[in-house]
Amino acid sequence: MFVRLWLRSFHIYDLLLAIGLITLIVFLCLPFRFASHYEYIEESGIEKALLKQVTRNVSQQEVFECDYSEIIAENRFVYHLAHYHYSVQRGAEIHLGGEFRPEGCQARYSTAIIVPYRNREEQLHAFLTYMHNYLSQQLIHYRIFLVEQIDHKPFNKAMLLNIGAQVAAEYGFPCLILHDVDLLPLNSGQIYACTERPRHMCSALDHWRFHLPYRGLFGGVVAINTVQFQQINGMSNLYHGWGGEDDDLYERLRAKNIDICRFAMEFSQYTMLKHKPEQPNANRVALLRAATLRQPFDGLNSLVYKKVERRLHRLFTLILVVT
Ligand code: UDP
Ligand code: MN
Repeated sequence: MFVRLWLRSFHIYDLLLAIGLITLIVFLCLPFRFASHYEYIEESGIEKALLKQVTRNVSQQEVFECDYSEIIAENRFVYHLAHYHYSVQRGAEIHLGGEFRPEGCQARYSTAIIVPYRNREEQLHAFLTYMHNYLSQQLIHYRIFLVEQIDHKPFNKAMLLNIGAQVAAEYGFPCLILHDVDLLPLNSGQIYACTERPRHMCSALDHWRFHLPYRGLFGGVVAINTVQFQQINGMSNLYHGWGGEDDDLYERLRAKNIDICRFAMEFSQYTMLKHKPEQPNANRVALLRAATLRQPFDGLNSLVYKKVERRLHRLFTLILVVT
């Protein structure tokens, strides 16, 4: 009888173990939990897809336009370079406020990099060091804007991005890159400039094992023309806490028939610095359902916040706000 009992429990145990193992294998290995296929621009089409546009104050003195074809053709893995992480190599060439223009050639692209931020000091330090080293190799004109929420209400990422976009437009930037502070590009050729269609730049993220979870994912690092951002009334100001605001942005683009694009995977690999998950916004699904209904009156045209201060740091322009 004891043997029979033992056998019975052994079977149940065995079955549970098998089910567990199969679930784990399915979860880890099968790609169909990700978008199995998505369109992307191959290397040969990248330069053509980029929008030539600069701010007015970019020096017209240079005779020759910078050459980007080489940067794209020589795309390579650079994240392992120790000196990219150690200190800002060309610190002396970066202007107060975190602005850089190549010398010796005329930049073809001007980009405002907008980072929503609160209380991630270690990540910010890693971001600034790496990104300035990375970006100053791309021969583009750029400036980093950090929009920091200083109140203690739930984090409102989309509102901070709207604020950043507004400030960047004041500076005349024709192209916005909305950038999480914890995402770093791995390959040198992901040019930080806008494409004709808004671009999802971090489509191959290590956190997702370099797969795209779903085709409509449009968050993390995205490039969008300032004019297009204004056309869609920016992002919703109503997402308090984690989640949903990026899907809302995608819905806004779709509502205006603006298609998105991505570059081939070897240009779009990113790593995400480790952090604890944030508190999700319980209201996000309901908000998303009415995304396009709210679009005409919830966004850039309804942006209300308290500007606390603007400070020019050596490596970035800081915009302190109360939401
Ligand atoms: N963020 C921040 N402080 C916070 C929450 C978010 O600075 O307390 C910013 C930061 O730029 C971060 C981005 O918002 O990268 C997205 O948040 P999070 O990384 O938590 O979301 P994930 O994309 O990892 O789900
Ligand atoms: Mn993150």
